[in-house]
Amino acid sequence: TAPLDRPIPRPGVLDIAPYVPGKSKATGGGKLYKLSSNETPLGASPKAIAAYQAQAGALEFYPDGSATALREAIGRLYGLAPERLICGAGSDEILNLIAHAYIGPGDEAIYSEHGFLVYPIAVTGAGGTPIAVKEKNLTADVDALLAAVTERTRVLFLANPNNPTGTYLPFDEVKRLHAGLPKRVLLVLDAAYAEYVRRNDYESGIELVSTSENVIMARTFSKIYGLAGLRLGWAYGPAAVIDAMNRIRGPFNVSAPAIAAGVAAIEDRDFTARAADHNEEWLPKVVGALEAIGLTVTPSVGNFVLIHFPDAAGKRAPDADAFLLDRGVVVRRMDAYGLPNALRMTIGSAEANEAAIAALTEFLR
Ligand code: PMP
Repeated sequence: TAPLDRPIPRPGVLDIAPYVPGKSKATGGGKLYKLSSNETPLGASPKAIAAYQAQAGALEFYPDGSATALREAIGRLYGLAPERLICGAGSDEILNLIAHAYIGPGDEAIYSEHGFLVYPIAVTGAGGTPIAVKEKNLTADVDALLAAVTERTRVLFLANPNNPTGTYLPFDEVKRLHAGLPKRVLLVLDAAYAEYVRRNDYESGIELVSTSENVIMARTFSKIYGLAGLRLGWAYGPAAVIDAMNRIRGPFNVSAPAIAAGVAAIEDRDFTARAADHNEEWLPKVVGALEAIGLTVTPSVGNFVLIHFPDAAGKRAPDADAFLLDRGVVVRRMDAYGLPNALRMTIGSAEANEAAIAALTEFLR
């Protein structure tokens, strides 16, 4: 074979379709309502912002590479051993660390059909093969997931609530999934939207991690904590899994301002409760208003809704997306998720929600 005349990425890398983030700008000028990336309308806790700013005078120093203060603060809140916690630059990094520690060429990782796009990217980036499994009613199907397990399966990613569908798999089903998996398969419970789910299931998920050798839960500061721009996430897992991830992570993967803001954010429970209350008030209002104008909405427990459009000329999701953009309402196209006639809309401020509902009402007229 001829010698290569330039560096070539290893097999698989160029098969990855780059992740396309939500739009950040509308075309119409004037007011902008950004409802495209499941960010909170409440901003970050003022205490987190103050803690972040207080770091400005010490930026010449490296952060504590293992984010001890933050792991201790998370541990205090949930009653978890800090040794079993790891922090990352967003839960994206956590998911990538899991993929790179457990998956290599020839290995497979399973996820649900309309699961979060970072899973196939992380798995392919690690050299493995992502296996998408069909859902039932846009919800993870435990039997189908278990049927997809082969001797090459190393990891199963489950987002719960799922993004972009907003659907939720009850803990009994998560337990059944875990019970059916070989012990060598790592079950990743991606709980980016956990704080919006007002039931005890999440404590059960944490309990499952505590009592298993093959379950890890990933969490984020990007959603209810309003710190998406800071890039901060964490995971609670078995000591051996956390150890493997620590061996491959960058030595200073979380910045000092992020650690400080994260500690303040996790301790400001009033702020988090207000954010959850806002969602609890507006999620049903938005769903009710959308259904009242004839749209179908997948039942959601997150801070976003998946909206399905009529299959009629001029009324499909891409038409609605353009119409909304013109009115300053930015939502997310779902083509990359295999849902070309749906849009995902974040629950925003009262004003943003009302603007979106008004625009969609006009669109369907
Ligand atoms: N998991 C899910 C299911 C998500 O929706 C997101 C954010 N879109 C993430 C993980 C990653 O969030 P971050 O990296 O900001 O923590």
